Amino acid sequence: AHRVRFAPSPTGYLHIGGARTALFNYLYARRFGGTFILRIEDTDLERSTEASLKAILDGLKWLDIDWDEGPDKGGPFPPYFQTQRLDTYRQHIDQLIAAGKAYRCYCTQEELKERRAQAEKEGRTYKYEGTCRERKDAPEGRHHVIRFKMPSQEGSVSFDDLVLGKITKEYSDLDDWVMMRGDGIPLYNYGCVLDDHLMEITLVSRGQEHVNSTFPQLMLYQAFGWQPPQFAHLPLILGPDREKLSKRKHKEADVMLHKANGILPEALLNFVIRLGWSHGNDEVISRQQMVEWFDFKDVGSTSGVWNPDKLLWLNQHYLKTLPPADIARRLAPFLADKGHALPADDARLEHFVIAFRERAKTLEEMATMAVPYLLQGVTLDEKAAAKHLTADSLKLVRQVRDEVAAMPEWTVAGLDSVIKTVSEKAGVGMGKVAQPIRVAITGNTVSPGIGETLLLMGKDEALRRLDAALA
Ligand code: GLU
Repeated sequence: AHRVRFAPSPTGYLHIGGARTALFNYLYARRFGGTFILRIEDTDLERSTEASLKAILDGLKWLDIDWDEGPDKGGPFPPYFQTQRLDTYRQHIDQLIAAGKAYRCYCTQEELKERRAQAEKEGRTYKYEGTCRERKDAPEGRHHVIRFKMPSQEGSVSFDDLVLGKITKEYSDLDDWVMMRGDGIPLYNYGCVLDDHLMEITLVSRGQEHVNSTFPQLMLYQAFGWQPPQFAHLPLILGPDREKLSKRKHKEADVMLHKANGILPEALLNFVIRLGWSHGNDEVISRQQMVEWFDFKDVGSTSGVWNPDKLLWLNQHYLKTLPPADIARRLAPFLADKGHALPADDARLEHFVIAFRERAKTLEEMATMAVPYLLQGVTLDEKAAAKHLTADSLKLVRQVRDEVAAMPEWTVAGLDSVIKTVSEKAGVGMGKVAQPIRVAITGNTVSPGIGETLLLMGKDEALRRLDAALA
């Protein structure tokens, strides 16, 4: 069975590209009964932080992408943090040095910088020239790194990418790349290959920015005599401006920003899966369908473009189709943020969802629509009050007030029918009763249906406002 992985570096929040890589690998494992591994590539000691690790785990949990092996879970090939695997990296590199396939390089930063500048001046791309390849001495007090020894300058390395097809690189385009720093910290290409092999990864899927790393990585598999995994490099994601989606330029690259904006994880996942993958013309794709349908062979090589309207459209779709009680639970924190912390079992939460989901595209918008119903008291629009709260109409308001106050349970139909009966008895149109009530409780003349408006306000507050108008 396949073993796939997501290998984030904890140097920032979970971004959309990372979420997509995680999702695709996760779905592949779920579809084919494989295993999804989370490995933390935290070898950049200056930039890796606990906060970022937490942000990445939180992001994955919010999206409900769970891993089978990794942090918090363990598994058969621990540890799952690269900084805890330094002994392994050292042992394997010693083996490679002993076999003459890697070597210590004592060239200083300054020397390398000079040579690079010289190459630039001559219009060549700089390649390490192998200065330390045959070096026997170990200069005292000098830092060193460990370099991979390219076996030859002639030949080429290629692989069949599941997305991009066959890609080839000439040996002459590669150089003796750095595998490890002198202090035992592996560089990306080395740590990645070692872990992918030792964790028995069978398929590596990651962003297209890593295609070029695949060649030196393949050289290393060869040097160790190991079977490389399959590869599937995912196409770029472009922002709404059609520039490569980047944390620096695009705020929407941040997964958790969408949570704060009131996007549902179901909608974001549905949006993300379509960035580079498709299933016919399907746009709304349920979790179950994702697992049934996903395959790397349906990932295209053209970039996925961010369409903000599509995300909102999908979000509203899920606001309208997930159970109202479920949406209500998620609406509560948005109301709390606006100063209206309702208890989780407050029936109004669900009423708000049902009343506003046709118009609200996000939980945030839904909360904004609900706030006027939660304010204590109401400011009457003067014109509306002068027109609708006359002595005659207040008599009708009084009748309605008394009847609805006596109702043991409020429902939209029950409330509407009170308005209807009162207006019929008075021999006036329903509007003549509904409008004064509406003004009395909302302050003005526009709101959803009158029964619904009363219900959203809740019995206590609605009666308080009616009484204030009647006083
Ligand atoms: N740590 C690398 C990154 O976050 C992983 C790349 C890979 O999947 O090999 O970009």
